[in-house]
Amino acid sequence: VAKDDGRNRFCYFTRSMQLQAQERLKLRHDLYNALEQQQIQAYFQPIVELNTGRIIKAEALIRWRHPEKGMISPALFIPIAEESGMIKKLGDWMFYESAIRAQYWSRQLGYPFQISVNRSPAQFIADDKDSPWLDYLQQKGMSGRCIVIEITEGLLLNVSPRIKQQLDAYRQAGIQVSIDDFGTGYSSMAYLQKLQVDYLKIDQSFVREMVDNAGSRAIVEAMIVMAHKLGLKVVAEGVETLEQKRMLIASGCDYGQGYLFSPPVPPIEFERLLHIKSRLN
Ligand code: C2E
Ligand code: MG
Ligand code: MG
Ligand code: MG
Repeated sequence: VAKDDGRNRFCYFTRSMQLQAQERLKLRHDLYNALEQQQIQAYFQPIVELNTGRIIKAEALIRWRHPEKGMISPALFIPIAEESGMIKKLGDWMFYESAIRAQYWSRQLGYPFQISVNRSPAQFIADDKDSPWLDYLQQKGMSGRCIVIEITEGLLLNVSPRIKQQLDAYRQAGIQVSIDDFGTGYSSMAYLQKLQVDYLKIDQSFVREMVDNAGSRAIVEAMIVMAHKLGLKVVAEGVETLEQKRMLIASGCDYGQGYLFSPPVPPIEFERLLHIKSRLN
């Protein structure tokens, strides 16, 4: 009996696995043409100065509007893009979009308005020397001061010469560096000293838990104190409630990002949030 049962379950299991693999393969195939078919968009989410509520920066987040499936989460397709090598094309495109917006918005506002761009380890590996990102800035006569690169904690674990060389080149161009999702990986403050880093982004899981969980609150407070002592500014991710915001302000956190302020929005809407005239579509 158990054997039959097991076999049935096994069949069911493999069939669903096959579907998953097929699904992945289809997404991978569709992703190849997504950029040319204008299904890819850059959305922007405000990063707010907690004390004043002022929008002072933005994070660029990729969006894929699939013709049949609708919006597909980057959490789902970024890994596919990474393993298929498409991350380079998509990531470079996101950077160019972000640089153009950062330049335009800075000009409109009259001060440098920074946009954070995510860069995964696969993107560091794809660019063997200096990144085309710097060539792009130079070509367009743009300053790196309007760009922040977000890297994950994991990247700090073994900083290869290639990664170090790229990060040094970025910093030399005025680009700043932010550690994304801090607290989810090995989270060693010691690693922060190995590279020059400007911002620490506290992962949203801590922000979510800190209100009800004294332990999470203690961790958040400690991260903020240590980051400040190392000369970093702190961004809290996933701020959804006033309670969280109040607690973060009391803990000395500098900036917040989350649905409480705004979800990621298309450029036109972001310009509305900034109260600036829209020129680009
Ligand atoms: P991330 O860089 O940590 O981005 C923050 C994520 O949190 C975004 O998810 C954002 O929409 C979401 N978020 C913002 N505020 C809140 C909130 O209050 N509550 C909750 N629950 N979530 C909030 P998204 O846009 O789905 O992106 C997921 C991840 O995909 C990003 O995490 C990043 O790792 C990756 N990603 C997105 N765009 C790019 C890109 O252009 N290049 C690369 N390499 N990775 C990207
Ligand atoms: Mg990020
Ligand atoms: Mg994050
Ligand atoms: Mg994340």
